[in-house]
Amino acid sequence: MTDLTQRTIAELRDGFAAREFSATEVVRDYLGAIEAARELNAYIVETPEKALAMAAASDERLARSEAGPLEGVPLGIKDLFCTEGDHAQAASHILDGFKPTYESTVTTNLWADGAVMLGKLNMDEFAMGSSNETSHYGPVVNPWRSNASNAPLVPGGSSGGSAAAVAAQLCAGATGTDTGGSIRQPAAFAGIVGVKPTYGRCSRWGIIAFASSLDQAGPLARTVRDSAILLRSMASVDEKDTTSADIPVPDYEAAIGESVRGLRIGVPREYRMEGMPDEVDVIWERGKDWLREAGAEIVDISMPHTKYALPAYYIVAPAEASSNLARYDGVRYGLRAPGEDVTAMYEKTRSAGFGKEVKRRVLIGTYVLSAGYYDAYYLRAQKVRALIKRDFEVAFDAGVDAILTPVTPTAAFGVASKSLSSPIEMYLNDIFTVTVNMAGLPGIAVPAGLDGDGLPLGLQVIARPFDESMLFRVGQVIEEAAGRFTPQRWW
Ligand code: GLN
Repeated sequence: MTDLTQRTIAELRDGFAAREFSATEVVRDYLGAIEAARELNAYIVETPEKALAMAAASDERLARSEAGPLEGVPLGIKDLFCTEGDHAQAASHILDGFKPTYESTVTTNLWADGAVMLGKLNMDEFAMGSSNETSHYGPVVNPWRSNASNAPLVPGGSSGGSAAAVAAQLCAGATGTDTGGSIRQPAAFAGIVGVKPTYGRCSRWGIIAFASSLDQAGPLARTVRDSAILLRSMASVDEKDTTSADIPVPDYEAAIGESVRGLRIGVPREYRMEGMPDEVDVIWERGKDWLREAGAEIVDISMPHTKYALPAYYIVAPAEASSNLARYDGVRYGLRAPGEDVTAMYEKTRSAGFGKEVKRRVLIGTYVLSAGYYDAYYLRAQKVRALIKRDFEVAFDAGVDAILTPVTPTAAFGVASKSLSSPIEMYLNDIFTVTVNMAGLPGIAVPAGLDGDGLPLGLQVIARPFDESMLFRVGQVIEEAAGRFTPQRWW
């Protein structure tokens, strides 16, 4: 942690413009910080040569006054994104040795705007998980510790490496993906900001697929402003992803500081879970007060289908995953476990290559898509999904501008404290976030306070499709009221 690694992306931008320091100096400090923090296990692969070469190129552009919007800004990239020539394994054993020969559209956009790549970040295997414990590369340790104990805590998941790296100042910002909460939940657990954009806002091309109708890339950053800066560069329409939206990408930063006076903020009464700690409620109340004080009107709303979101998600997501993951068979890339014939080779490869949680999803997904059960499970889950979407449409049609909820039902929990053999408890982490993916909406997680153990808790803001600017506008009010949160360094 140096003076340079403490700076936000906006501060780096100002410092580069004022020639206070060079991109190479910033990258060197980050490489030192990453080396000193290996016990957090946030990075699977460090790419120092690439980082230094990209920083040198940034310095040349800065010298010529040709700086891009992210010139010289060092980023960590979730292992789900393909970057040319680098490890890209979705933190899975089955993709052993896979190095793509192409670049994802999101990372292409980031580099085109001048950003610098520091390495590939740890995650749950194939983005399935909420604790980063399903990674083939071992768990990530949250840089936050409870006041009460030094026991290691999870950073959340699946973008656990991204959240830990941003919070521990091992990158200025990171990419993540969110299928059911994987950007917002880890952001909340690490006391940082995470944005899940509208489905279609960022191209999915070159991102290893989990559940294609739910997956969406987005930024994790230390401030609301930084996440706005990153999203503007990440988002684009892309002919390589037909689900990407041909809607202009606005200057999201312009929404920061815009007043929320007169906005109607909906608070859904169904976003309360039995056994939820009081502190989560207290923070939610505080959030409402902050927005009221800033001139917004808080209105009670009802989203009656909320309770079906998680069960429906655990049909739709595994169904899509079972189909997407069928391609990992030992033939074209990654691991191959030899067998007497081709069927035995498939079986041995998949059995050796996938971890327990991924196998569970493939089994569930194959089951719900099977001929006799398709209508009873998959089709019905899709209908429930339409109803969840409608709950949001009704609220927005009634004049609600944004919705405020907690991000997670608890703060970060201990590594190995939730048994991977009883997955339901783990799945409940996403109870407030999956609805947003099911409806294809944009959502932001903003740190809002600390619980009694000194651990961060976040608030979520949800907006209309493609109204990410609203997230930044409301999110900024929360950030200003709550302040920013940085873990005490112990690593
Ligand atoms: N925790 C959820 C799951 O395991 C969501 C993961 C994600 O958003 N990628 O499926």
